[in-house]
Amino acid sequence: MPRFGVHMTASGFIGLSGAWMGLAHYGWGPPQAALAAMAGLAGGLVPDLDADRSRPTRFAALLVGLVAALGVVQYLLHRNRPLGEGILAGLVVLAAAPTAGAMLLRGFTIHRGMFHSLPMALMYGSGTALVFGSLGKNAALAVGLVAGAGVLSHLVLDAAAGFTLGPLKLCSRRIGPSLAAWFFALLLTALAWSRAA
Ligand SMILES: [Zn+2]
Repeated sequence: MPRFGVHMTASGFIGLSGAWMGLAHYGWGPPQAALAAMAGLAGGLVPDLDADRSRPTRFAALLVGLVAALGVVQYLLHRNRPLGEGILAGLVVLAAAPTAGAMLLRGFTIHRGMFHSLPMALMYGSGTALVFGSLGKNAALAVGLVAGAGVLSHLVLDAAAGFTLGPLKLCSRRIGPSLAAWFFALLLTALAWSRAA
């Protein structure tokens, strides 16, 4: 399987391309471009969050936590809360997210299980779009699209390296968790789409 650095290069490239496209053609400001770049980069590391607690996994968890924390800060500022409150909440999320995520992951996943599947790309993409909903609908969807593309790049690289379509699977072999994953992924996507600016 490709190394951590390969995944990071690919998804970093996707994130930066998305950011550049947004800046050049869609009137994004630097903050949105930076968010898209980071969400895309983090996306490429998301599927391996289910791996052992190695240093790359911890870094990936931190990056995903950072995306979530920025979303919370953005949301609070959008609601006209004081900057200090936003920063404090962001720091709490940043500190808590990797630990909480790791506990959940240890409890529920096996490596290269559901985290390496198409609904995961949909979930992370639409989840990111929801987290950044206060940017406005189109901007949030654009950031979500870059984020989902980051996850997809990981799956494609894993598939190419192993000469197997395994990582691009529709779900797990068990029907219950698969249905749950798709239900959740489609629910998040519908929410992201329907949410007004
Ligand atoms: Zn992988």
